[in-house]
Amino acid sequence: MTDIRKIPIFEKELPITPICRLSQGYDNGANQLFVKRDDLLPFSFGGNKVRKAAEFYREIQEKAPDVIMTYGTATSNHCRVIANMAMAMGISCHLISPEDEGDTPHFNRYLTESFGATIESCPVTQVADTISQRQKAYMSEGRIPYFIQGGGHGNQGVAGYVKCYQEIIRQEKKENIQFDYIFHASGTGATQAGLVCGRFIHEEKGAGPAIIGISIARGNPRGREVVKESIRDYLGDGFENLCQEKELTFLDDYILGGYGKYDPQVSETVQQLLRRDGIYADTTYVGKAFRGMQQYIEEHHITGKKILFIHTGSAPLFFDGLKI
Ligand SMILES: *Cc1c(COP(=O)(O)O)cnc(C)c1O
Repeated sequence: MTDIRKIPIFEKELPITPICRLSQGYDNGANQLFVKRDDLLPFSFGGNKVRKAAEFYREIQEKAPDVIMTYGTATSNHCRVIANMAMAMGISCHLISPEDEGDTPHFNRYLTESFGATIESCPVTQVADTISQRQKAYMSEGRIPYFIQGGGHGNQGVAGYVKCYQEIIRQEKKENIQFDYIFHASGTGATQAGLVCGRFIHEEKGAGPAIIGISIARGNPRGREVVKESIRDYLGDGFENLCQEKELTFLDDYILGGYGKYDPQVSETVQQLLRRDGIYADTTYVGKAFRGMQQYIEEHHITGKKILFIHTGSAPLFFDGLKI
């Protein structure tokens, strides 16, 4: 049996991070904006992939594997966090990555490599086969692989954000505030699914803020459908009681040029956030979602509301975007 090292910060409940009040001015001061700083989670530069990884961590400790496998680009936040966690636990890490990442330098890739992960690339069409072949190969050598879905998808990832929702409720009570809206960057959907499930489980029916995921890549109907599937997997039979249309808003209006594409408006938002509030945002996820939120507030004439934006991290991508 492998001797698995413990990561002390994962053993505590993750801290309830204070929510910072943003300076007024993004919308002429008519609404109150707050940011939940999930980017400050204290492991591997933080972010939502750390919150999800903390849930996998608990299971890994029980199952005691000797190799952690996952899927994703070597430039992704997910692979960085998993490779870091594996190294910290003293377990090897094997990443299956799609080919064709281009050759621009990325801090996530650099970090992932420095954590000693084996990075195996394969054509996108052969990902599923490659994963199952590798798993079988490890098992035939008597090793114990543990597989994590790309992006930390699945019930553990969702559970991480159910907990985040509970944290938000506690913070609301403490600060004597009730949010009308929660906005965040939505990709594979586990983050949003967790928040929606959290509200469903922990609030009276129909109560709680509107949860609005700003898609950073996927269009509807698929984007929304994928979030719904995650919710269904997590809630099981309870899913049928979810008041579906109203409780799940997945907006594909702010995808702009597509995943990771440069957009001058997003860059402007990123500059504003940094200069006015000292909060970093990358342009692929957080900056884009923040911009989408601003536009949504404007377009829907939302005023006098309390709005929470969840900062989902991505520090290495922020530094990638700096032109020195
Ligand atoms: C992965 C990621 C997201 C999207 O999270 P999902 O759970 O896949 O929707 C949002 N923001 C950042 C910074 C991410 O790395």
